[in-house]
Formats: sequence, C-alpha cells, structure tokens
Amino acid sequence: MFADIIGQEKVKKHLIDSAKSGRVPHAQLFCGAEGTGKLGLAIAYAQYICCEHPTDNDSCGTCPSCLKFRNLAHPDLHFVFPIVKKDNETCDDYLKQFRAAVAKDHYLTNIEWISEISNETKKGRIYDSESGQIIKKLSLKSYEGGYKFMIIWQPENMDVGTANKILKIIEEPPAKTLMILVSNEPDRIIGTILSRTQRVSVPPVEKEEIEKYIKNNFQQNDDEAKYIARVASGSIVAARNAAESNSANKQHFEDFKFLMRTTWGIRNYSTLDKKGDALIDLRKFAEAMAKNSRNHQIEFLRYAQKMIRENFIYNFHNENLNYLAPFEKEFSSKFSPFIN
Ligand SMILES: [Zn+2]
Repeated sequence: MFADIIGQEKVKKHLIDSAKSGRVPHAQLFCGAEGTGKLGLAIAYAQYICCEHPTDNDSCGTCPSCLKFRNLAHPDLHFVFPIVKKDNETCDDYLKQFRAAVAKDHYLTNIEWISEISNETKKGRIYDSESGQIIKKLSLKSYEGGYKFMIIWQPENMDVGTANKILKIIEEPPAKTLMILVSNEPDRIIGTILSRTQRVSVPPVEKEEIEKYIKNNFQQNDDEAKYIARVASGSIVAARNAAESNSANKQHFEDFKFLMRTTWGIRNYSTLDKKGDALIDLRKFAEAMAKNSRNHQIEFLRYAQKMIRENFIYNFHNENLNYLAPFEKEFSSKFSPFIN
C-alpha cells in the first residue's frame, strides 16, 4: 500500500491521479536513487489499480485483491529481477524467495537480494533467457479479468539480448497490460527502451520524513535523527545503515579519543612517569585492539580516517562541509586545532 512507503507524497499523488483518470501509460520507468522507495511505489500503484474499494489516497487493504497483494501473490502481478543463475534457471525459480524478501522489505537492495539467494559476490543479472518468459506471461489472459502487471526490477542489469527481444512488447503490449521498469541507474538502460517508456522520477526522500522514520524505528534522539537524515541524502537504505553505524561508531569514538589523548601525552606530558604510564596504556590499547575481529579493526581505521578528515574540515567553520555526529562535535571543538 502507499502507506508503507516513507514520504514521496508528490509521486503518490501523481500515480493515484493517473489511476483515477484511467489514463495509465502502458510502459513506465520509475527511476531514482537506491533507497527512495521505487519498488514499493510500483507495487502500491498496481495494488491501487486492482483494488475494489480504493479511497482517495490508498488501496483499501482488505478486499480480495488487496489481500493477494499483501504477500505479493496476486496472479496478475509478475516480476522480473536479477539473479545469479545456475544451469537453466529463470526468475521463476526464485519467485517465492523474491516475494518473501520484498514483502518483508521493499527497500531491498541488489546486494541484499543476491546475498540471500547465492554465495556469489557478483551482481545479479537479468539473463537473455528471461525474455521468452516475459513475452509468454504477458500473452496470457489475466486471471482476474483486470490488468496484468509486469514489474521489471533493475532493468539496467538486463542483458542486451533480453532488452532487444522485449522492445516490441514494450511498444505494443497486449490489452490491459502495464509494464513498470524500476531502475536505480536509468543511464545504463539502452536508449530504445528508454524512448518507449514514460518516466516517473522518484526524488530523494524528504529529510523530515527520514528523521521521523529514524526516531520511530531506531533508538536515536532528536539531534542524532537529524544528523542521520542529513548524511542519508534521501535514501532510506543509507539512513538505516547510518543509524546502525552511529551506534557502532560510539565505541570507535571512545577508542579514537583514547588513542589521540594517549599519544599526545607520550609527547607532551611534563614528567617521565606520566609519559611512561601513557606508553603502557597505549600498549594495552594495541593488545586489546588486536583481539578484535579483522573487520572491527578495519572499521576502526576507517572511522579514525573519517575523524581526521572531519576535524581538519572543522577548522574551516563551515557547517555544510562537516558530517560530525552530535556526540563527536564537542570533542572536535577542542581537538580540531591539532589537525592541520
Ligand atoms: Zn482493496
């Protein structure tokens, strides 16, 4: 349902207006950055068109059609998506998993999806063999007598052969058929497909909406939610990652502060005793750090690198250039003069 998508009121209104007017373009390209809610919007749009009792701003959520949309099992809702295939597999072999993953979280990313179905680290693709499936499914009559939907997730990862084979059906689809292409990177889609689809631009999610979302779903206070909304640049995926790493960063921050103060002390303390103590502390720190996982160590170094950069920038006194979390700011007001 549209209510499941964070923000994006303008796009929602545009889609609802087009559904109400009955002038629904038969091939549309939803494009925008990762984490803006495009896939969720495409599904909510299809649900709205099928809903038996739609309201002015959403599907009813309770009619037989809406119930089938709930776990994405409506028989006229088809999906094509990237996979890492073995032998003669097609999307259908992964459909159950895909429906479950998207029903759970429609902000799913390519990497998350592929890691769910495969141990491979490569990106998924939409293989040539998929074109036959697309054409076959769209030539069938719709089960419920209404529209048929073909949602193609990430057409930028489509083999050129597939793209060429489905050109005709995009241009002249069978009656009551809607194709919705959902793309993070429309620049990578071949021009002949682009020119045959009507574009729906999905902008970054509004800052205030991300702030609200973070406050409601993660344990972050007002200042932190504000900071996360800022670094997320309109992406729900980035906001979640930032909220999670904001918690992890608090540990890194304590370690970083300790490391900086201790090393400063070794050089600057007035007595040899104090210098010696600092040296012992530093040795203990190194031993404790060595016990952490390799990944933790890498993350710490990355964090330290970020802090050096941010503190260097802090000296310019230009808030727009700085990406310091609220808990880091106070420290930086005293520490930054040392980073020059
Ligand atoms: Zn309904």
